[in-house]
Amino acid sequence: MAAANCARWLREEGADGSILLVGREYDPPYNRPPLSKGYLRGEESREEVLFRPDEWWGEQDIELLTRTSVMKLDAGERVATLSNKDEVRFGSALLATGSNVRRLRADGCDLEGIHYLRAFANSDAIREEAAEAERVVLIGGSYIGCEVAASLASQGRQCSIVMQEEVTFERHFGPEVGGFFQRVLEEHGVTIHGGDELERFEGSGERVSRVITAGGLSLDCDMVVIGAGVMPDVMLARGAGLELGEAEGVKCSSRLESSVRGVYAAGDICEYDSVIHGRHLRVEHWDVAFNHGKTAALNMLGRDVPHDTVPYFFSDLADWSSMEYVGPGAGEPVIRGSLDDGDFTAFYLDGGKVTAALTVGRSDDLEPAGRWITEGAGPDPEALADESTDLASL
Ligand SMILES: Cc1cc2nc3c(=O)[nH]c(=O)nc-3n(C[C@H](O)[C@H](O)[C@H](O)COP(=O)(O)OP(=O)(O)OC[C@H]3O[C@@H](n4cnc5c(N)ncnc54)[C@H](O)[C@@H]3O)c2cc1C
Repeated sequence: MAAANCARWLREEGADGSILLVGREYDPPYNRPPLSKGYLRGEESREEVLFRPDEWWGEQDIELLTRTSVMKLDAGERVATLSNKDEVRFGSALLATGSNVRRLRADGCDLEGIHYLRAFANSDAIREEAAEAERVVLIGGSYIGCEVAASLASQGRQCSIVMQEEVTFERHFGPEVGGFFQRVLEEHGVTIHGGDELERFEGSGERVSRVITAGGLSLDCDMVVIGAGVMPDVMLARGAGLELGEAEGVKCSSRLESSVRGVYAAGDICEYDSVIHGRHLRVEHWDVAFNHGKTAALNMLGRDVPHDTVPYFFSDLADWSSMEYVGPGAGEPVIRGSLDDGDFTAFYLDGGKVTAALTVGRSDDLEPAGRWITEGAGPDPEALADESTDLASL
């Protein structure tokens, strides 16, 4: 996503050099969020999920090499070596190698019917097997586990989530807000086993048929989807000698330039110096990858602009509930609106300052929240919670 949008903005802003986009996947750049949502449910087509239609790349004079890996990047000599043995000289480079899923090692983990979800092919495989399945176990109570549970349950599958957290999304949003999303899932028939974790898988022949948890549960199933988080894929960056940061990403300036001049990073792997937060940040959100691509392009063209967009995130649980978030930050939530009615914004305050906000149904609240995050401001919590207060006046 980040690389595709960078190529786009290079052309839109008048770059006249050659642009080569190299990706190891079979498909041209595409949006991953629908893979656990509309595309998984068969509501969105492959074409709708693509970043741009196939012919667009040629029209923009962007050379697109799919099914090709960059094996090595010589940052000093400015040469990339590709898996097809080509050596490509470059003036500027962007590394946007994304994330790899965190794999769980447990007895039985190689059985058939156990899935992870990152790419088109994973979503296709889950969709195909879910069509024949009755019972699905999801491992993980965060975005992937909850979104896939919602998608498959909305199509009549019996879904059970096993997770370490006591309530869904607890690590991101705390128990109160996480509990709201858990209730939404449960009201739609998803069973949730919190405070537990995977012990092993058991199979019938080659195929998974049961999940055994550390807490002693035995859950019969026809398939399993694991959403246990991701890790930034910094293999290429490490090999190129780029400095890495504390969050295991590529350490970048506020201009998204790595420790090597002219070599940029963006998206999931980019640990950038955020002028908004006053610290280095690495964020795994679609919108961040998208906007990083633009910032990197502008800086490649010498515009010298910091990346100063407040990170934004969205997620859907089928058509039952949608969340939007700006941040990222921790702290105690102040609730405006009603969790019971599913119409609320949680403003997270830390040391008297707004660090993040999550909303269900009140997108407009994210605008002042983004402003407070940028300004390091913290309105009075009582005024925030009071619905008669105009947020714009705070
Ligand atoms: C199922 C799913 C649902 C999601 N839903 C949401 C959501 O609702 N909201 C949200 O904000 N975010 C969501 N995300 C996260 C979001 O999609 C990512 O943050 C975003 O795709 C990151 O973009 P990126 O460009 O950094 O990396 P990616 O989109 O992962 O692209 C990186 C690409 O680089 C390729 N690559 C890696 N190494 C090499 C190499 N050496 N040579 C060539 N190619 C290489 C990879 O194969 C991959 O194709 C979701 C992700 C998934 C998987």
